[in-house]
Amino acid sequence: MQTESELAGVNKDKDPIFVRHADLERVSDDSVYRSLCPVCKVGALLVLRDPVTFEIIQSDMCILCAQRVFYTDLGKQEVTEPKKPVRKLQI
Ligand SMILES: [Zn+2]
Repeated sequence: MQTESELAGVNKDKDPIFVRHADLERVSDDSVYRSLCPVCKVGALLVLRDPVTFEIIQSDMCILCAQRVFYTDLGKQEVTEPKKPVRKLQI
C-alpha cells in the first residue's frame, strides 16, 4: 500500500486511459460525478466542466496520481478509444 505522498503525480507521464464513468466507483454519495481513481485507487477524479459552456469535459485527471483519463460515456466524444492495439487496463 503506497502512501498518498508516494503516489502524488506518479502517473502524470503515463498514457491516458479510457474508462466508462458509469463503471467507476463514486467517492461518496454526495456527488454523482466524483469517482475513485481506477489506477491508484486513492485519489479522485472530479469531472470538470467547461467554465463557459458548462458542458462536461471528456478528459479528466486524478487529483493525486495525475493519471489522465478519457470518459467514453461523458462529454463530447472528441477523443475515441483506439481500436487497435487493445490496451488492457493495468491495475
Ligand atoms: Zn490516481
